[in-house]
Amino acid sequence: QAKARGRNGFSFFAPFMMGEGVERLRLETYLRRSIEKDEIFLNYQPQVEIDTGRLVGVEALVRWNHPELGLIPPIRFIPLAEDTGFINQLGKWVLHEACRQMVRWQDAGLHVPKIAVNLSAKQFERGSIVNMVADILRDTGLEPQRLQLEVTESVIMNTGDAMVFINDLHSIGVALAIDDFGTGYSSLAYLKQLPVQTLKIDRSFIKDISTDVNDEAIAIAIIQLGKSMNLSVIAEGVETAEQAAFLLRHGCNLAQGYFYSRPLTADDMFTRWQK
Ligand code: C2E
Ligand code: MG
Ligand code: MG
Ligand code: MG
Repeated sequence: QAKARGRNGFSFFAPFMMGEGVERLRLETYLRRSIEKDEIFLNYQPQVEIDTGRLVGVEALVRWNHPELGLIPPIRFIPLAEDTGFINQLGKWVLHEACRQMVRWQDAGLHVPKIAVNLSAKQFERGSIVNMVADILRDTGLEPQRLQLEVTESVIMNTGDAMVFINDLHSIGVALAIDDFGTGYSSLAYLKQLPVQTLKIDRSFIKDISTDVNDEAIAIAIIQLGKSMNLSVIAEGVETAEQAAFLLRHGCNLAQGYFYSRPLTADDMFTRWQK
């Protein structure tokens, strides 16, 4: 591992590094049990229409609450789950729970038009992703058009059969979004061939949108690109009214971010958005 290498390329061990390894192993062991121990749950972040404030969907975001370690953020355990292969089990659980929750809300009187679920590259390697999605939709009874799968540009560009899987997913009626758009290196020619409906502008471009001319230019370019390719464009990480106004002014009417709502529990989602 590069981290364990000294300045001159010699490997060495320092106690803190060994600690890191032990910590990782411990997390791995805990993570493998997390689902059966009921420690995994989902939060839901509203996606809204900027001009009306209307709810257009939610993004499901996985959470891990360990009894001793507390709430562990996905940036710490998703990569671990990917390395260990646990992501397949986790991803399936997330998708199932997300679809089930849509039906629960519906039954309780809250209509959430659409749910977005993140997929990791590793989930495409198994080959059975389309069957898994189809099974879950059948099992929960959620209409395919109300499920949107989010993949990043790197998933599309680096996964051998991504094109095939994405076309298969499209053929069973689920929608597709490209997450963190602008941070990867997607070929526009490639993008044109994909049955994608949505581009999500990465929040790094939204952050300084009204002060950084480069971020401003990138955000505007993505909005224009989406328009010309007939895609819907949603901005993530919208934290201020100024950012929302900027987006609206430049033709992007969809947003997700703390300005509208933090990710919520299923119950809070119900109490805040039910009319
Ligand atoms: P993402 O898919 O780009 O999700 C958006 C992240 O931005 C979420 O972080 C969300 O809480 C955060 N966020 C939303 N609005 C704001 C805002 O206004 N300001 C700031 N600073 N942050 C905001 P979270 O929940 O920690 O998730 C981080 C990443 O972990 C996600 O990025 C996604 O790549 C991954 N992830 C989360 N859930 C899943 C999952 O179920 N499966 C997979 N494969 N990955 C997941
Ligand atoms: Mg996402
Ligand atoms: Mg994103
Ligand atoms: Mg992001």
